[in-house]
Amino acid sequence: MEKSLLKQKIAYFSMEIALSNDVHTFSGGLGVLAGDTIRSSADLNIPLVAVTLVSRKGYFRQELAPDGRQIEDLDQWEPAQFMQQLPEEVTVQIQGRNVRVKAWEYNVKSPMGGTVPVYFLDTDVDGNISEDREITSFLYGGDERYRIKQEIVLGIGGVRMLEKLGFEVRKYHMNEGHSSFLALELLRKNGMDIDKVRNMCVFTTHTPVEAGHDKFSYDLVKEVLGEFVPFNILRSLGGQDKLNMTLLALNLSNYINGVAKRHKIVSKEMFPSYEIHAITNGVHSYTWTCESFRRLYDKYIPGWAHEPELLVRVDIIPDDEIWQAHFEAKRKLIDYVNSIANMNMDYYTLTIGFARRATEYKRHTLLFSDLERLRKVNRRGKIQLIFSGKAHPKDYGGKMLIKQIFEYKEILKDEIKIVYLENYDIDIAYRLVSGVDVWLNTPLPPLEASGTSGMKAAHNGVLNFSVLDGWWIEGWIEGVTGWAIGPEPGENVSTEERRIRELDDLYGKLEYTIIPLYYKRKSEWIRMMKNSIGKIASHFNSHRMVYRYVVEAYL
Ligand SMILES: *Cc1c(COP(=O)(O)O)cnc(C)c1O
Repeated sequence: MEKSLLKQKIAYFSMEIALSNDVHTFSGGLGVLAGDTIRSSADLNIPLVAVTLVSRKGYFRQELAPDGRQIEDLDQWEPAQFMQQLPEEVTVQIQGRNVRVKAWEYNVKSPMGGTVPVYFLDTDVDGNISEDREITSFLYGGDERYRIKQEIVLGIGGVRMLEKLGFEVRKYHMNEGHSSFLALELLRKNGMDIDKVRNMCVFTTHTPVEAGHDKFSYDLVKEVLGEFVPFNILRSLGGQDKLNMTLLALNLSNYINGVAKRHKIVSKEMFPSYEIHAITNGVHSYTWTCESFRRLYDKYIPGWAHEPELLVRVDIIPDDEIWQAHFEAKRKLIDYVNSIANMNMDYYTLTIGFARRATEYKRHTLLFSDLERLRKVNRRGKIQLIFSGKAHPKDYGGKMLIKQIFEYKEILKDEIKIVYLENYDIDIAYRLVSGVDVWLNTPLPPLEASGTSGMKAAHNGVLNFSVLDGWWIEGWIEGVTGWAIGPEPGENVSTEERRIRELDDLYGKLEYTIIPLYYKRKSEWIRMMKNSIGKIASHFNSHRMVYRYVVEAYL
């Protein structure tokens, strides 16, 4: 009998997946994207299963000392509270030992009826030595050796577990190169037939810089993984000098994509001999729309959560109801901020939000480059600023950014209210992207592959003010959907000129465009809020993204 298409699954592999705030298996955008992909797949009844690591001890919990120094705590969570441990077990060989791998099952159920099971692999199993029991403890923790062990469990253990659970897999989708070992396992299972394996694999790259790709020395590979496939073949697929996990995925996938149109071009420059497509990221509309806007959309645009493209009809919503919905979200955010930081922020001041992983290229401190100009902006019309974001424990540059914001906060304390919220997570992101007025984003191009938080903001009528990089190049219409900071991507500018033009836009547009619009021309502001919803949220959502993956990569 003909196998039904629907019986075959798409297996989605990701080192991090963000499903809920209490399941600490994510660090940032990559994990949130994976979560949104899964939620949309469940809504759309896509036959998808997902695989990740259980990361029992989480990424880390961030505390900030009074001077902005980051303190890192364990962020332990208890899988048994959220998911079911399965009786099945597989083994992988690590450093010559058999390591036993179990799985926890979490079913993401959509109100539309679909379900996507997610398998969290776990090596904390009786019979494993204590060192091996820790392999799935820390997300992005430890050294290179720790990382390669995790990637063996994810890639090789993941394929074996799906097989053990009886899934028939149509395509393996590697969300970033951490899971590329899965393709080696497929090679072994398929008589080293490279073409056959390529037909089974899809690879999404997220990293626009060479240094961001995982690379392992062959000495380490030999020691930890052994000769899993013959070394001459491994070298020809993964690089002669070092095993580059991105290269491995590129060579063993038939469909490769970047996460925005610009990112595709940048990836093509890094890897000129590969065909690379572009599927621009999206966010899960229902998840990232705050309660007040959900109610509004339900009233005027029924069915919007299932068909977010209907948000193009936003113009049928009366202006005052848009403003009321925004004001409700803003009030909740300001109350929340005042309850944890004794700042006395108010509901009526133009509130600018900036929250993302604290790492140098995101430039958290760009707004403070010229304090005199910032003061001048604030004299034109009051602003207040809310920041958040964790720095990876080994990212000293990122930690420095947080400390610097604390210094500026002190310098400006009598003029501008500034708060830095600790422990950025999904809950804080949800409050911020719905409750501020303007969402600021200042990455150094071309380092922002896509970015997604600005799409979340747009779902809530929050206006984007951003450097032209990643998705914003596609979403931006000046003065219509938001505002740009700095030159357009095609312009060939020196570092100094870029900086000058970025600061001119940053301060100039705040002072002469954004502040006057906010304080004096509310109806034009509301027009732009509607444009954000109608022209951005309607397109930059994960339903559209998943449709694209299905049609172009999975079928
Ligand atoms: C959306 C999100 C991100 C990604 O934000 P970018 O600004 O696109 O980098 C990171 N962390 C959390 C918790 C998020 O919700």
